[in-house]
Amino acid sequence: MATTHKTRMLIIGSGPAGLSAAIYGARAGMEPIVVQGLQPGGQLTITTDVENYPGFADVIQGPWLMEQMQKQAEHVGTRMMWDTITEVDLENGSPFVAKGDGGDTYVGDVLVISTGAQAKWLNVPGEAELGGKGVSACATCDGFFYRGKKVAVIGGGNTAVEEALYLTNHSDDVTLIHRRDELRSEKILQDRLFASEKISMMWNKVVERFEGEGKLERLVLRDTQTGAISELEVDGAFVAIGHAPATELFKGKLPMDESGYLLVEPGTPKTAIPGVFACGDVMDHTYRQAVTAAGTGCMAALDAERFLATLEFAQKEAVAAE
Ligand code: NAP
Repeated sequence: MATTHKTRMLIIGSGPAGLSAAIYGARAGMEPIVVQGLQPGGQLTITTDVENYPGFADVIQGPWLMEQMQKQAEHVGTRMMWDTITEVDLENGSPFVAKGDGGDTYVGDVLVISTGAQAKWLNVPGEAELGGKGVSACATCDGFFYRGKKVAVIGGGNTAVEEALYLTNHSDDVTLIHRRDELRSEKILQDRLFASEKISMMWNKVVERFEGEGKLERLVLRDTQTGAISELEVDGAFVAIGHAPATELFKGKLPMDESGYLLVEPGTPKTAIPGVFACGDVMDHTYRQAVTAAGTGCMAALDAERFLATLEFAQKEAVAAE
């Protein structure tokens, strides 16, 4: 039977941003509900080793970290819902109403959006099979594992160039593979790229497939001008062709940039609608780290608490004046 769930703090999305918002929100007495979405735990549940999340001296596993965060959120009083939001009503201000795909309704005095973003993939043979075994979409996360090895980055935007430059901290043999003969990234990044002796360029090439027995061994490439097929032996390949934020639900309801990321008041998680906060990758196309997502989740909860305190004070004053 369809049920209505009411809370002072409704959180959509259960990655590090949403769960950090939940931990802070629960401890502030907001009794949060987290609607987990299609990928409970978010992007970290599809990675393996995590070595850059503070607090753990040894390498930990992404899925384990998210399990711990969820348990911590529940331990302090968060209710986790196995549901996916399909519709939100932000038009009338607080309380905000959201519908789950099973027919349940969620009503929150504040709404925290932490639906995340997903790396775009090439969708060519071998990519999914060798994911986490040489194929990655995050050099900051996985670059360290390729110390002294041969790596490639695919893409021609800011992310690809930054990833290639970052990888030179670990490898002297980085190849940037781009499908055209000019980059789309900012000039200053290109200058740094071309000045690096550790990076070589492969222009006009696309990856046809990723190959290897149990781990990535080579890329099969096609020249976009001549059609010629070639191979590049590598230990690691980083797909850096952009990210897609999960903001379909909010189109026409909240301001977004041209790539679909939610716009917030700079330095805060506040969206254009009072009481609606956005945190994590859904509003951040620059840093995109679990720890930065967790940080903005904490900020969302602190601002949500302030918003509710002001709202509830105004409501009490109005009642007293009657
Ligand atoms: P992007 O600017 O959209 O660039 C994506 C790159 O991937 C393009 O070069 C594109 O090639 C290539 N590509 C797309 N699909 C492909 C495919 N199927 N096969 C091969 N190549 C493919 O994405 P981004 O670099 O992630 O940047 C996204 C936004 O974040 C941008 O606004 C960027 O400026 C910003 N950003 C800023 C910073 C910074 O300021 N430091 C850092 C990172 C990102 P074409 O060029 O041929 O289209």
